[in-house]
Formats: sequence, C-alpha cells, structure tokens
Amino acid sequence: MTTNEIIRIAIDGPAAAGKSTVAKLIADKLDFVYIDTGAMYRALTLKVIQEQIKFDNEKMITETLTNTKIEFKAVSDGQLVFLDDIDVTAKIRSTEVSQAVSHIAQLAEVRKQLVRRQQLLANNHSVVMDGRDIGTTVLPDAEVKVFLIASVDERAQRRHDENIKNGFSSDLQILKEEIADRDHRDENRKESPLTQAKDAVSIDTTAMSIDEVVEKIIKLVTDYKNKAR
Ligand code: C5P
Repeated sequence: MTTNEIIRIAIDGPAAAGKSTVAKLIADKLDFVYIDTGAMYRALTLKVIQEQIKFDNEKMITETLTNTKIEFKAVSDGQLVFLDDIDVTAKIRSTEVSQAVSHIAQLAEVRKQLVRRQQLLANNHSVVMDGRDIGTTVLPDAEVKVFLIASVDERAQRRHDENIKNGFSSDLQILKEEIADRDHRDENRKESPLTQAKDAVSIDTTAMSIDEVVEKIIKLVTDYKNKAR
C-alpha cells in the first residue's frame, strides 16, 4: 500500500452519540474530508418545512430534493452547511428540524438520492463520514467502520451541555424524549434502518472522553494500514 491510498472511515450510531464531534477531529488530524450526512437530511427537512410540504408527500419532497443544492464548506472551526447557497448551519440544528428529520429520512426515494450524492462526495478522497447507514449502505467497503453507542441519558446530557455552552435554551427531559423518539424511528424504518454493520467495531463512549474515542479510532486506522502493508 502507498501512503496515498484512499481510506474511508464510516462512523455510525444513534442520535447525539458524539459522531460528528469525533469525526471532525479525526478528519482534522488525518487531513481527511469530513462529510456530515445527517446535515444533508436536516437541510432537506428545513426546506420541506419552509415550503410547507407535508412530511408524507414523498413525490413532492423527492422532486424538491432533485432541485436542491446542499453543500459543505470547511472553515477553521468546523464546517458550514449551505442550502441553495444560503448558510443554514445553525438553522438545521433547531428543535423543529430535529423533530421532523427522521420522518423525511425514512422516505425511500429521498434516501436513494442522498446516498448517491454522499457516494459522489466520497469519491477519490480519504473521508470520515458519519451517519446511520454509512457502513451498511453508503460505503459498505469502507476500510474502517465504527459504531458509536452511549446511553440515552448520557447522550441527552451531552447535547444539553452543548446547547447551554452555545447559549441555546435547552430542556433535558425534552431532549431525552426527542433523542429516544428519533432512535426509535431510525432503528425501525424500512429503508436502511440504523444498525451496526457486521464488520464495524462497536465503541461504547458512555464513560470515555472525546479524546479517548478519537485515539481509539485513529488506532483502528493505523492497524488497518499496518495490516494492508
Ligand atoms: O446525524 P444527525 O443526528 O444530524 O442526523 C439527523 C437525522 O438524519 C437522523 O436522526 C436520521 O433520521 C437521519 N439520518 C439518516 N441517515 C444518515 C444520517 C442521518 O437517516 N446517514
């Protein structure tokens, strides 16, 4: 193997398991491209809400998606998300979008289109991609696959602390319910439900720091490289 070989890291797991925080740090450290697939479902959901399309109107939502631009722009402290050239980075994290997104994400045609776009984004680069179906569907041949888990209480508490730190209002009980509801819909939908790929390494992050999780995944990458040599 050469040092230029493409390595794709797939990080899946339930809502608020720390996937994006960890994925961003790994992408920075390894100089890989970070792709937040949840942000793509969220951006489409925002547009569906703005255009007042019913969540079960699959035909109209799919047509809307076909004519929708969703782009990422890397900046020094993370990544911006653009919906039809408008920066929606903060808006897609609203409670309204968080509560609606798993309804939109269960639509088969929506998934087909977004999976295709995600595969194109990962073409020819080393990437860290996080989501729910990366190791199973989007990048089934990813060189490194990780499934992050943590208790609902722990995940809600982390999201709550993050909201407070960012100056957003936050209610721990509502967060717990929202996270549990979203997990339930993501795990039970017909189209590529949230599930651990057979060859993914499961990491329970409940009692781990972010740095420990990052280190563990980087070690998996190093092990992969050593084995491939
Ligand atoms: O990762 P994040 O929590 O931002 O994802 C928001 C929602 O988008 C998830 O709850 C899920 O419904 C959907 N999603 C998905 N497949 C992905 C990424 C996200 O269905 N690969």
